[in-house]
Amino acid sequence: MDRLTPLPHAYRLARRDAQPSGTVVMLPNGAAFGGETVAICAGPCSVESREQIRSTAQTVAARGANVLRGGAFKPRTSPYAFQGLGADALKLLREAADACELSVVTEVMDPREVELVCAHADMVQIGARNMQNFSLLREVGESGKPVLLKRGLSATIHEWLMAAEYLLVSGNPNVVLCERGVRSFDNATRNLLDLSAVPLLRTLTHLPVIVDPSHGTGLAALVAPMGLAALAAGADGLLVEVHPNPSAAASDGQQSLSFEQFGAFMRQAEVVARAVGRAVPAATFAT
Ligand code: PEP
Ligand code: MN
Repeated sequence: MDRLTPLPHAYRLARRDAQPSGTVVMLPNGAAFGGETVAICAGPCSVESREQIRSTAQTVAARGANVLRGGAFKPRTSPYAFQGLGADALKLLREAADACELSVVTEVMDPREVELVCAHADMVQIGARNMQNFSLLREVGESGKPVLLKRGLSATIHEWLMAAEYLLVSGNPNVVLCERGVRSFDNATRNLLDLSAVPLLRTLTHLPVIVDPSHGTGLAALVAPMGLAALAAGADGLLVEVHPNPSAAASDGQQSLSFEQFGAFMRQAEVVARAVGRAVPAATFAT
């Protein structure tokens, strides 16, 4: 059998044949998810200071990133760990991104903060821990803001697409999926990065798919090889954690690339993207 009949209540808006040519999600600076040029989202796990986010924005823009990431509201396992700078971080992100023609993606955790985050960000991230927070999905859906929907910690592909469906049915067509690894039996890496999700999702949905090799592996040394593999598998973009001094990062330092490592990675990414008929963005800042 070469055709499957979809279930009546499954992801009717997200499914591939609802938009056979594929969806392209655009951000204000021209960054596109789903076009020939991939989107490169880069920046620290958490925004820590004006200088930290400013220097990171300049460096990643100069190496070909087109979206600045940085956590303002952080979902931390421990309530005693750094929780993010909140509203102050949103302003610092905006200022740093505007100076380098970058768009901003940052996580929103609370439906009551969607309006605040949307006022500063160009794209809102729904984190792995909130993939099935249905009231958050509906609120972000109603905002209409482009959304980066991470795969849940142990979500099936079906559950992930149903979460995307909540955003779409709330009136927001600008949904990008982000594979960031799932829990496995093996703790040798932080998560098990499911790169097969990329070509699989291509057949199931018209939504763009990007890959986060930072959370997907938890180890800086694995970020470049898995980021390159993601591009080879057809990802529409990458999300990479970059920090001026990873060993001193307030969160996720062990999986963050230094400026030098990010530069080396982007040179390789350009070659791999070209090999699969794609391109990396042009630099928007000169250092
Ligand atoms: C993050 O991007 O810093 C983050 C917390 O991601 P995830 O939700 O994938 O763990
Ligand atoms: Mn992180």
